[in-house]
Amino acid sequence: MFQNVQQIQDFIRQNGIAFLDFKMIDLRGRWKHLSIPAARFNEDIMTHGIGFDGSNYGYAQVERSDMVFLPDITTAVVDPFVKAPTLTMIGDVMVIDHPANRPFDQYPRNVAKSAIAHMQALGVADEMIIGPEYEFHVFDGMTRTLRPDAVGYRLQCSESVWSAGEFPNNGFHTGPHDGYHADLPGDRTFDLRNQICLELAKWGVDVKYHHHEVGGSGQLEIEVELGEMTRLADATMAAKYVIRNTAAANGMTATLMPKPIYGEAGNGMHVHMLLRKNGQPVFYDPNGYGQLSRTAMHFIGGLLTHARSLCAITNPSTNSYKRLIPGFEAPVTIGYAMANRSAVVRIPAYVKSPDKKRFELRNPDAMCNPYFAYAAILMAGLDGIEHEIDPAGRGWGPFDFNLFDLPADERKRLGHLPASLDEALDALEADHDYLTRGGVFPMPLLETLVKTLRADAQEISRIPHPAEFDRYFDL
Ligand code: GLU
Ligand code: MG
Ligand code: MG
Repeated sequence: MFQNVQQIQDFIRQNGIAFLDFKMIDLRGRWKHLSIPAARFNEDIMTHGIGFDGSNYGYAQVERSDMVFLPDITTAVVDPFVKAPTLTMIGDVMVIDHPANRPFDQYPRNVAKSAIAHMQALGVADEMIIGPEYEFHVFDGMTRTLRPDAVGYRLQCSESVWSAGEFPNNGFHTGPHDGYHADLPGDRTFDLRNQICLELAKWGVDVKYHHHEVGGSGQLEIEVELGEMTRLADATMAAKYVIRNTAAANGMTATLMPKPIYGEAGNGMHVHMLLRKNGQPVFYDPNGYGQLSRTAMHFIGGLLTHARSLCAITNPSTNSYKRLIPGFEAPVTIGYAMANRSAVVRIPAYVKSPDKKRFELRNPDAMCNPYFAYAAILMAGLDGIEHEIDPAGRGWGPFDFNLFDLPADERKRLGHLPASLDEALDALEADHDYLTRGGVFPMPLLETLVKTLRADAQEISRIPHPAEFDRYFDL
């Protein structure tokens, strides 16, 4: 890992690096980039940064739209997806001020760092450790042309039985709902996953394991090792970039969209989490339910209390709510349990080591801005700790049976996740004090998020859907 400008300059010289590519994060959690000739990189850029117009990044307007990008050299990595040798860096964004510039408080990396500072100021813990899981689909070809049919849009995947007949070479395939841990030759994406994981290691993303997921149509999963929250948010950006670009380099298309195929498993981005204080695990108690401490339970209490409003940040697309339905291992009911995939919070029973003792939040998906999502999750948990919210006392579990089997009225009584993006936004509008504490999520940022996502929801609801043609065209 690079620690100073001299090391970067030496690396540039020794490796013939032609460009430095600076990645900035927009409101939706996409990378935007700006490149400079490598010879221009010097101490001054590290101190004074690179100016850019921040008004196209989706954030609430501040008094000045001129902003400054400050590269974080510890994130530098060679980007293998471009021809000219290029060193890529993530960084922070400052608002221009006098006498000194100040951090742009809506910038995702700054929001994540403020959430950590807030946690430290409360004395709860020093470190938030997380571990996201990436589920995604891979389709053939580079086309984004979708074929509307009776069940909505479908993309072509050589693994899938659905492309049989219309597309050749389907002797080996993974059947619907039957892809879990599929082996060769049906698992046609093994080489691709290996390639993605080898590349991720270079980007500082340590892979725990990778495999074919349940979806019998090229649904894959990569799980990564636990790490510090802000670093892991950087790693999430890198993982999405590497997944998509490695697929593209192989003439395929990868998507992390939560529900690309009707009737098949959707793509979640479960987030595992634990806290550390003075290097010690805060969530471990050998006598607690699932060996979790009271503090861990309160954290879960906070997550479940705010689960509905949290969805607007962790599941910010209209498509997200097509995944959060019963029957596909995605959570619907607000509750917690050990080894139960139908609950919003699951405590993996196989984790025995005290310093890895954790639970996972199952509703998030990769449409989120990871910095906002991880920061909001932490803020919800901290609220639970501050108010000692006991999830068992609220009737949220533990549920050690399949919640999908619950009668609908019982599920309603327990509370359920929003059924649409609009519902999630209503929830966020009604419940956001836990996010604005300590100035972590500035109000103008939340207002802009809601406005942007409402516009998405409204526009998409007005677009005639292929399934509507199927039902109504000839009626
Ligand atoms: N694909 C499922 C989801 O949408 C999760 C499957 C799993 O537990 O890994 O959340
Ligand atoms: Mg999975
Ligand atoms: Mg999981």
